[in-house]
Amino acid sequence: MALFLKKIRQSAEIFQVTDTSNMLGAGLNIISNGMLVLKELGLENEIIENGSIVKDGVFKNAKDSRLAKFRFTNLKKYQSPAVNIKRKALHRILLDKLNEENIPIHFNKKLSGIR
Ligand SMILES: Cc1cc2nc3c(=O)[nH]c(=O)nc-3n(C[C@H](O)[C@H](O)[C@H](O)COP(=O)(O)OP(=O)(O)OC[C@H]3O[C@@H](n4cnc5c(N)ncnc54)[C@H](O)[C@@H]3O)c2cc1C
Repeated sequence: MALFLKKIRQSAEIFQVTDTSNMLGAGLNIISNGMLVLKELGLENEIIENGSIVKDGVFKNAKDSRLAKFRFTNLKKYQSPAVNIKRKALHRILLDKLNEENIPIHFNKKLSGIR
């Protein structure tokens, strides 16, 4: 959001209640519509380079029986692939972009209201 505001020349600052950017967590699947948003910010290639394109997905139950299979990447329809990336890598890419755009992030700051 802050990066899009910057694109339309509106200033933005980020307030984060925690004391650091949360780098915890495993992989994150960004499906094509999410990738299209990130493409608008010029981040598509960097995300693909740091992740893996996901072509198909299979849902299984605890007994390993297949419940459903579906296509994640449909380039004809969405022009961007679905990508699986570590949360830490995605955070780093976004933080670098915020830094590049001089958008300040204030850690340890709790939003208590909007005037
Ligand atoms: C196990 C798991 C796996 C998932 N896998 C996927 C996946 O593969 N693909 C996918 O698209 N989605 C996935 N999701 C969902 C995804 O993580 C969430 O939809 C997404 O993080 C929501 O983003 P958000 O910005 O709305 O909220 P959050 O990510 O929760 O961000 C809110 C932020 O605001 C901060 N905050 C809260 N209150 C205040 C305050 N008063 N002042 C300042 N800061 C504050 C919090 O610290 C936090 O950093 C998964 C979720 C889980 C739990």
